Amino acid sequence: MRTEIERHILVKDSQGVAVVDTLPEPCRACEMAHTGVVEVTRSCGLPGKRRRGSQSSSHGSVFFCTNDPDLIESSRLFKRELAGC
Ligand SMILES: [Zn+2]
Repeated sequence: MRTEIERHILVKDSQGVAVVDTLPEPCRACEMAHTGVVEVTRSCGLPGKRRRGSQSSSHGSVFFCTNDPDLIESSRLFKRELAGC
């Protein structure tokens, strides 16, 4: 059975207010636990292998966690997606 691709995104503005929030409940701890580096992890609240990372600027911050196999495979692709969030 094919796993459905999930893309979890949390965008905050410069005040720390969430403007886009598609994180399911189990991924909240993931967002709290991650250290800012782009990494492959199995410690998301959701089962399986995922890639997560974040980036921030003066405009705010973006956190992105996904089980998309292409993005787990390639941190370059992941970072490109992250930049486009
Ligand atoms: Zn997660």
